[in-house]
Amino acid sequence: MNTQLRILVQLQEVDSEIQRLEATKGDLPQRASALRGRKEALEVKASELRKDLEQAKRDRAQAETDFDLLKEQKAKYQKQLLSVRNNREYDAVTAEIEAAEKGLDQLESRIIELLDAEGRYQSELEKTEKELSEVSAELEQVEKALAEKAAQVEAQLRELSNRRERLLLQVERPLLSSYERIRKAKGGLAVVPVARGACGGCFTQIPAQRALEIRAGDRIFTCEVCGRYLYWKDDTYSGSR
Ligand SMILES: [Zn+2]
Repeated sequence: MNTQLRILVQLQEVDSEIQRLEATKGDLPQRASALRGRKEALEVKASELRKDLEQAKRDRAQAETDFDLLKEQKAKYQKQLLSVRNNREYDAVTAEIEAAEKGLDQLESRIIELLDAEGRYQSELEKTEKELSEVSAELEQVEKALAEKAAQVEAQLRELSNRRERLLLQVERPLLSSYERIRKAKGGLAVVPVARGACGGCFTQIPAQRALEIRAGDRIFTCEVCGRYLYWKDDTYSGSR
C-alpha cells in the first residue's frame, strides 16, 4: 500500500478511537450538569420554604399574643360591666366587649389560617428536602462515574494523542490538511475501506476498474461522491455477493 495512504489509515484508526473514547463519557457530563441545576433550584426552594415557615410561625406567635391580650381586655370590660352606673356606661362597655369579641374571632381565624400555612410549608419543605437528598445522591453517583470514566479514558487518550503526534510527523502537509477537512465535514471519518465494492463511507458503488486500482494500492484515491480516502481491506471485500 502507498506509504502515505497507510499512514492515513492508521491516523484514521487513532482518530476514530479518540472519538469513541470521548463518546464513552456519554451523557454523563450533561446529566451531571442537569442534576447540579436541579439541586440548586431545590436548595433555593427549600430555603424559601424555610423562610415562609419561620415567618408564618412568627406571625402566629404574634397573633396568639394579640389574642391573649385582647382576651384579658375583654375580661376587664366584663368586670367593668358589673359596676356600671348608668345606661350610657353600660352601652359603652358592651360595645367594647363586642369589639373585643369580633377581634378575637378575627385573630382566631388568622391563627387557624397560619397553622394551615405552616402545615403546608412544612410538608412541602419535607418533600423538597427528600427530593433534594435524592438528587444529591444521584449527582454524587454521576460525578463519581464521570470522574472514573475520565480517569480511565485519560490514560488511553494520552497514549492515542502521542501516537497521533508521531503519525502527523509522517504525513505530507497538503494531504494532512485535506484529511482534517474531510474528517471534520464527514462526521470524523475521512479514510474508509472499500466494502463490497462500495465506498465504506457513503456506500456508493465503485467502478470495477477503479476498485482494482485501489486494490493495487499504488496511488491514493478518493470517493467521487463523498470525497473520503479509499483503501483496500481484504477482509471487507466480498464483491461476488
Ligand atoms: Zn463515498
